[in-house]
Amino acid sequence: MPNRHYPSWRLNVEVDAAAKGHLPIAMASPRHYLIEYKPWSIWYKDIKMSTNIRKDIYEIVHAYNAKTYWESARHTSREIVNLVDWEGIDTSMKEVPRHQNTFVTKHVVGMCGIGKFLKRWKERETVECPQCLTPVEDSVHVWRCPHPKASALWYRSVDNLMIWMENINTSWDIMDAVQTYLHSWMTDTSPNVDIPEDLLSAISAQDMIDWGVSLKAGCQMSGQLLNTDTTHFSAHSVPEKGGW
Ligand SMILES: [Zn+2]
Repeated sequence: MPNRHYPSWRLNVEVDAAAKGHLPIAMASPRHYLIEYKPWSIWYKDIKMSTNIRKDIYEIVHAYNAKTYWESARHTSREIVNLVDWEGIDTSMKEVPRHQNTFVTKHVVGMCGIGKFLKRWKERETVECPQCLTPVEDSVHVWRCPHPKASALWYRSVDNLMIWMENINTSWDIMDAVQTYLHSWMTDTSPNVDIPEDLLSAISAQDMIDWGVSLKAGCQMSGQLLNTDTTHFSAHSVPEKGGW
């Protein structure tokens, strides 16, 4: 308990000064010793801690909760959540600026500058889409808005995606399937394309994950689809700015 004649602000100042005084001593004579060889290994359940212990700990602390969130938010199962190429997303997210990651994350979870939230934040009078006047503008509607301006942007964006996929030597079959399935998701119609035998399993995995979530800057693409044939898009690079 601080003495009432001795104000707490003065204690803070003194403690802070003492800590700063100790710092040079601690740096000059560290109390941690470097062990030259590996005397033991550390395990958490069936995960062996690697030299990149920061990544391991981050995964143990956050991966379970993140996957549980997606399981609940998408009303899906852990098996389907595990179909997502999380490693690929990790790589892609690190390749774009932090503010872009923040934007993508907000859009993926649906909490961004859309009618639903702008009304709640008192920045807009109504929740309806300002373009097509659909009663509720949510993050999915942003992609599916039927207004001619929004549709034009959609088709231009898919074209840009195709150009990018072509530039990284994606097979025509995969491009054809991705383009068709994206358009069918956008228009809520059945995809009309012949899927080659070797792509069926990958397409089916993406079907289960949902094509809609795959749009958000390459988020939540199936690992199978990403690694089919010679294609490794998203796992190793992301579209140029303005592509998606
Ligand atoms: Zn709209």
